Amino acid sequence: MSDHGALGPIPPKPNKDELERLAQVAAYYDSPFLNDIMQLIDDQENEAIFASYIQRWPSLVALPSSGAVGTKLNHPAGWNKIIEELFGSIASKLADLGHPSSSLPIIIETREMFGRLSVFHSLPAHEILIQNWIKAACIQSTRTCWECGVEGRMVDLDGVIAPRCEKCFETERKSIEIS
Ligand SMILES: [Zn+2]
Repeated sequence: MSDHGALGPIPPKPNKDELERLAQVAAYYDSPFLNDIMQLIDDQENEAIFASYIQRWPSLVALPSSGAVGTKLNHPAGWNKIIEELFGSIASKLADLGHPSSSLPIIIETREMFGRLSVFHSLPAHEILIQNWIKAACIQSTRTCWECGVEGRMVDLDGVIAPRCEKCFETERKSIEIS
């Protein structure tokens, strides 16, 4: 047996089509790897979205560099539209203000907490307009299905409170009942 195991050298990183094909194979054989493969597909999509954010808003979003932390985008995909509108507004406002570009990312982290968007940032507290945009985006997230991005409401998913549209709520409620 080679150093790389029974299948020989480690193959190149699979692309999205290959991962989707693997997911079909795993589903066919009812394999427990299906969840892992679905997670890899999600991760790849997130990587692509992150790369596009860095390109579109270099003044807000940054990769980690030597000694400096990078932006962590950990919000659910259904909120991407809210995030994109918010980042677009903040970036153009900062450009108007002649904000100097910094080596630290202005957006430190986006994530979900208790069903609501949280944005951690280093924006000055006296920029009331920007602060209000961030608050508004976080409020809007509580009415936006975090799975698919359409209008929704806060629902109870087996003890987890989260915003869902009616369709995603029904789908998840059924899968909770089965499990
Ligand atoms: Zn939905």
